[in-house]
Amino acid sequence: MTVTYISTRGRAPELAFGDVLLTGLATDGGLYVPKTWPALSPAALSWNPATDSYADLAGEVMWPFVDGTYSRNRFEELVRDAYSHTEGAHTEGGFSRSEVAPMVELGGGIWLMELFHGPTLAFKDIALQLVGRLFAEELEKTGQRVTIVGATSGDTGSAAIEAVRDRPNIQIVILHPKGRVSEIQRRQMTTVDSANVHNVAIEGTFDDCQDLVKAMFADADFRREQQLSAVNSINWARVMAQIVYYVAAARWLAVNGIGREVAQPHKQKLNEGLQNSDGRVSFCVPTGNFGNVLAGYVARQMGLAVERFVVASNRNDILTQFFTTGSMAIGEVRPTISPSMDIQVSSNLERLLFELQDRSGVRTATVMEDFRATGKMKIDARTLDELKQSWEGIRVSEEETTKTIANLYQRTGIVVDPHTAVGLAAAERSNIGSGEAMVVLATAHPAKFPEAVTTAIGQPPSVPPALAAVANLPEHYTTLPNNLPTIQNFIANCNA
Ligand SMILES: *Cc1c(COP(=O)(O)O)cnc(C)c1O
Repeated sequence: MTVTYISTRGRAPELAFGDVLLTGLATDGGLYVPKTWPALSPAALSWNPATDSYADLAGEVMWPFVDGTYSRNRFEELVRDAYSHTEGAHTEGGFSRSEVAPMVELGGGIWLMELFHGPTLAFKDIALQLVGRLFAEELEKTGQRVTIVGATSGDTGSAAIEAVRDRPNIQIVILHPKGRVSEIQRRQMTTVDSANVHNVAIEGTFDDCQDLVKAMFADADFRREQQLSAVNSINWARVMAQIVYYVAAARWLAVNGIGREVAQPHKQKLNEGLQNSDGRVSFCVPTGNFGNVLAGYVARQMGLAVERFVVASNRNDILTQFFTTGSMAIGEVRPTISPSMDIQVSSNLERLLFELQDRSGVRTATVMEDFRATGKMKIDARTLDELKQSWEGIRVSEEETTKTIANLYQRTGIVVDPHTAVGLAAAERSNIGSGEAMVVLATAHPAKFPEAVTTAIGQPPSVPPALAAVANLPEHYTTLPNNLPTIQNFIANCNA
């Protein structure tokens, strides 16, 4: 069965995977989602981390979404290449741990799943290392060229750049909010010396950058002329690649005798995750654009038994409001020590809203257009009740984040980055039941955030050699005002 893709706003053409990959945002402003949710295959549900590779599982989980676009053999080749193991050499691509996403037990029912062993030391590599290869493959097949345009609050930019640098037929333009990403994050992007890589520092916030990207995609002429394409987390292919590690975590726990019920009836209702009485698995996800945790929701739609999702936010707590009260109102973005989560409008929430509107494009479009116009949204009480059975939003203060890094270090010697610490603090506060395993997704390597870590534990984190190297390389970027025509002009020149 070949899955096709529809827009959450119901007014864009139905597309095959290859077109969804290159298009990113749908022409009606919506996000692409599979028309139906495929079930996890028996092979995926019996994957054994002791004997099978991460790439084996990745091929199994993702195949139904790409069937019809690639041959099975070619797809598996690309997957194996993306998740190859490179001993410690972060700059040469590949993952520094053969497991790709190792699990670490912290005690008290909490496990960390480390998603930061890729080339740029953040979880975004896991999706983007594959997506870069899928892009190159698709462009070669169709003879197209694209300009990838993206906004980054920190980690997306470097992961995207690393995924497509020096690839033919691709230009990449990454907007970052000037002065609002850490020095290391900036340097990881701007020290890449490749002719197809263009960094732009925007005088504004991350949301300004994201709005500029959205406006460029809404400008149909410009979009066509420049062959715009996106790899930010609205791109379905990124969500797809992230589904894999949720299954991996559940299987890892099952094989180690911790979570026993991995499968459950396919396409459960929102609250059915509660019915597994034994070996229950939950996930706590430090959240910004809602792309990571949405992939967990998709895994559950495909039949993975997940009890609940804890959505952890820093003081930019619009999602905490949403999951506690059913309403949200856009506020000012406030900078924090977990900058990749300094977001007020979480784009991928639209994919969950689409499900909550029973997959009605018309209703989702109305909700989203109202939200755009008024800055406010409210779901009805019944939907909120249903949602609360398996979702919880928790806000973590700056002090609590720092304290969490310090306490874990004192207790175990393990150092976590401030994003992971937000997740860990939320997990600790979330009333973990007996028999429940709470997996906190560790989204960045602590060495990416040395100031926050040093403040917490009194000494800097140890730095992998490839990251140390960027400190001495020259930077390449252009500073531009928060102004659409100026940016469009810049992009047209990149392609001239
Ligand atoms: C991007 C990012 C997040 C947020 O992930 P979303 O998919 O946007 O919710 C959290 N932590 C780190 C380190 C990140 O880079």
